[in-house]
Formats: sequence, C-alpha cells, structure tokens
Amino acid sequence: MFLYEKAPAKINLSLDILGKRQDGFHDVEMIMTTIDLSDRVELHLLEKDTIKVSLESRFVPNDERNLAYQAANLLKKEYQVSQGVFIKIDKSIPVSAGLAGGSSDAAAVLRGLNKLWNLNISTEKLMQLGLCIGSDVPFCVYNGTALVTGRGEQVIPLPAPPSCWVILAKPNIGVSSKTIFHQINVEELWHPNTQRMVDALSAGDFAEMCEAMGNALESITFYNYPEVARIKEKMKKSGAYNVLMSGSGPTIYGLVEHEGQAQRVYNSMRGFCDEVYMVRIIG
Ligand code: ATP
Repeated sequence: MFLYEKAPAKINLSLDILGKRQDGFHDVEMIMTTIDLSDRVELHLLEKDTIKVSLESRFVPNDERNLAYQAANLLKKEYQVSQGVFIKIDKSIPVSAGLAGGSSDAAAVLRGLNKLWNLNISTEKLMQLGLCIGSDVPFCVYNGTALVTGRGEQVIPLPAPPSCWVILAKPNIGVSSKTIFHQINVEELWHPNTQRMVDALSAGDFAEMCEAMGNALESITFYNYPEVARIKEKMKKSGAYNVLMSGSGPTIYGLVEHEGQAQRVYNSMRGFCDEVYMVRIIG
C-alpha cells in the first residue's frame, strides 16, 4: 500500500523578528503562503519495522538527518507504530533556499503517515508535533496562507493572496538560516508592517499586498552575500511589481499579475541567474 503527498514550497510575504526568547529561539511574525513548486513525497508501507528514505540530491542526506525521516520517526515513537515506511522524495524545491523545502517534506510525511498508519491525529496535534522538527513545520502542516507567530507554532489562517505569478531566482549559494539568525541584533533591525499585509490580504488588493512586502532579514543576508542584493535589483528593473527575499534567503522572488509580464521577468532573469522558476501562488 502506498500514497503520495505534495510538499509545496512557501514564500514569506512578510517576515519580522520581534525579539530573542529565553529558549534561544526568536519570536517571529511572518506571513507565509504556499506556491506551486512542490516536492513529491511517496510513502510505501513496510511490514518490517524500519524507516528508509530515498532521494537523489547531492545536498540532502537520506539518513536520520533527513527531516522526512525525523517526522516518520517522531510519529513512530509517539504512537508506538510497529510498521515501517519507505519514503521516496522527488525534490523540485531548491535546498537551503529560504523556501522551507525540508520542512515541507517533513510536514507531508506527518500528513501522509497519519492516513497510512490510521492514526487519526488532529491537524492541531500534527502541527504541535511538527514544531519538534523545525519552526516552519507547523505552517507547512497547515499549508495555505497564514500569519505565523511565536517560534512558529501559532498559525492563524489568512485569506489567500489575489491570483498572481511568482518568479523565483536562486543564486548558486546555500544560506544557512542558523548563521543568519545568529547575526540578528534586534535593536538595529528594520521592521515590516505586518498589519498592512494582513489588511491587504483581507481586501484582496494585489497592489497593496506588493507595497506591504517586507523582510527584516534582508539586510543581514545582503551584507553576507552581496550577489543576493544584486539579484533583487535586477528583478526590480525587469518589471516585477515588487521583489523580496524569502526566509533568510538566498531566493529572491517577484510578484506580477499577468502571465505575459511574468514571462518577461522570467526571461530576463534567466540570463542572469542559473535557477529561475515561474509559478503561481497557491495560497
Ligand atoms: P527554511 O526556510 O525552513 O530555513 P530552507 O529552505 O532554507 O528552509 P531546506 O531546503 O529546508 O532549507 O534545507 C536546509 C537543510 O536541511 C539542508 O542542510 C538540508 O541538507 C537539510 N535537510 C534535511 N532534510 C531535508 C529534506 N527533506 N529536504 C531538504 N533539505 C533537507
């Protein structure tokens, strides 16, 4: 028996850091939405009590360091499941890109094994479990558009963004979120206007949504990797309505309303950056 789950990437429409917590994590305030760029996660039931992960990627391990493995292991331990699972991941989401690819794979495993192993766990509980794996996992379990606060565990649903196209450009570097978060100095941080983004989404106003885009981590990543800032400038000039870095980078994305315009931005970025994608927001 097997089933498959889609594991979509996310972008941050807005990302703010409110402060550092006692437990070493940061309090965040993010508005995230899912996009039509997904990994495919296949789950095959095994009678033998093992977890196996298979994927073809030079950058992602297929052992217990894989977040999908960790998700399966967590459910197995927590619910004393004696069956095993073979997890096959077809990766399309770039790795260490700020698009939560690993978190989304883990979330897909939590959703999928809940069905395959007949565990009947509520979405809320799955999200809670997901937090043990990573701060972006609760949002990825929910999958949609949301305001995410706390360490990542509070996920408040928001209306999906108005229909539009996303062009993503990923420079040929991987950025470790940990490294960027270590460099945060909360007193010096610029803050986006999260409420403005909430209002724009509630009104379904594309132009206002673009105006409200903001990411408090951009300056830190741009300082470490100036080429990321150059890609942002280039995409702005190529006609995207607004352009922002997702997560802690290095992926830069631009939003446009119409397909023809999206194609022009895509073509112009193709000559400038190796990995470029043109997809729709799912939300
Ligand atoms: P985030 O935005 O949540 O910080 P990211 O998009 O920057 O995530 P990921 O692609 O999720 O980064 O991967 C970050 C690290 O996690 C890499 O070092 C990678 O090797 C590891 N990893 C473990 N499991 C996976 C997986 N299933 N897919 C991708 N990366 C994984």
